[in-house]
Amino acid sequence: MNCKLRAKNCGGCPLLETEYPEQLKQKEAAVRKLLSKYGPVHPIRGMAEPFHYRNKVISTFAPGYGGKLTSGIYAARTHKVLPVEHCLLQDEVLDTVMDAVRCAANACHYQPFHEDKGTGLLRHCLLRRGVATGQVMVVLVTAQPVLPGAKNFVRGLLTEAEKRSVPITTVVQNYNPRKTSVVLGEEEKVLYGKGFILDTLCGKTYALSPRSFYQVNPIQTAVLYGLAVDAAKLTGKETVLDAYCGIGTIGLTAADKARQVVGVELNRDAVHDAIGNARHNGAKNARFYAADATAWIRDAAAAGQKADVIFMDPPREGSTPEFIESVVRMAPKRVVYVSCNPETMARDLALLTKLGYRAEGFTPVDMFPHTDHCEVVGSLTRK
Ligand code: SAH
Repeated sequence: MNCKLRAKNCGGCPLLETEYPEQLKQKEAAVRKLLSKYGPVHPIRGMAEPFHYRNKVISTFAPGYGGKLTSGIYAARTHKVLPVEHCLLQDEVLDTVMDAVRCAANACHYQPFHEDKGTGLLRHCLLRRGVATGQVMVVLVTAQPVLPGAKNFVRGLLTEAEKRSVPITTVVQNYNPRKTSVVLGEEEKVLYGKGFILDTLCGKTYALSPRSFYQVNPIQTAVLYGLAVDAAKLTGKETVLDAYCGIGTIGLTAADKARQVVGVELNRDAVHDAIGNARHNGAKNARFYAADATAWIRDAAAAGQKADVIFMDPPREGSTPEFIESVVRMAPKRVVYVSCNPETMARDLALLTKLGYRAEGFTPVDMFPHTDHCEVVGSLTRK
């Protein structure tokens, strides 16, 4: 497969020139190399249609031809914006919405923000689509607190979207005056709609605001969570810990099949969302705490708390020895380890297996086709 952005140093799809079945083979082999000493590695779960899977787009504004603005992504290792109209990874509806945003912004004569000079107005546009619901969120990130003619802009944007037959559910202005590569600032103003969108995943509904963490490939996320919840072998009687829970998605997917779910997550906004998600889905048996997972579980284990099943889904750095020692003290029958980095997973498994857990098996899941990332679900039981 080829993409004309590659020649321009895009860098978004390092594996694009490798046929997809071969990509899967390579990822599976890499996982096998790292994990097979702990237990069997099952065939990788790939996508039937490995394109346009990203439900979230961040497009950065830059000067285009004839005084108009354009938008796209930074070329690899640079601060030069590569204009993007179509991307093989992005949801095609969002490419069309982005076209409508550019058109409406140009009609309002908005200027792109200039990083070095600090002049101009528009920095980035973040788009999100609830693929199950069809709802679309547009977040316009501005370098100035006021978006001049905001009402006109919204009216123009909705018209441009309608012309292109794509929906827009809500429009938010985010003010980010900082000198930073972080996309979103702290202040937000809802310009249209409710300021959030809904999406459905594994039978639960989630409200996504501009800052909510949410998995970007909904099709493969359903596969991943399905494998994780199956691996837990829940009967309805269990106390389940969902560590590194984000907005609570794994725990809430498991909640119907468990007695109670406790989620722990460092990011306060995500915990706030998790609590709302539990309420809106009627999951009265789920509680969420904002804390460092290691500190929380150390205290829980020291207080003699037990869990029947522990899900852990740490960030790329993996977990900590202290977390794993506390898992062992809580004595769950099963540990389900969901990893976005098989290398740190292998390191953590060395300790977990040394302390009395046996790996039943691992299933790699290709959440990010054409990139070199791979997720893994690992199922462990107490010896
Ligand atoms: N299980 C969630 C999120 C997984 S991503 C999902 O499937 O969507 C990993 C999560 O770990 C992120 O939400 C991140 O904020 C959180 N995290 C990172 N370091 C942490 C720590 N020390 N303690 C608790 N959570 C942490």
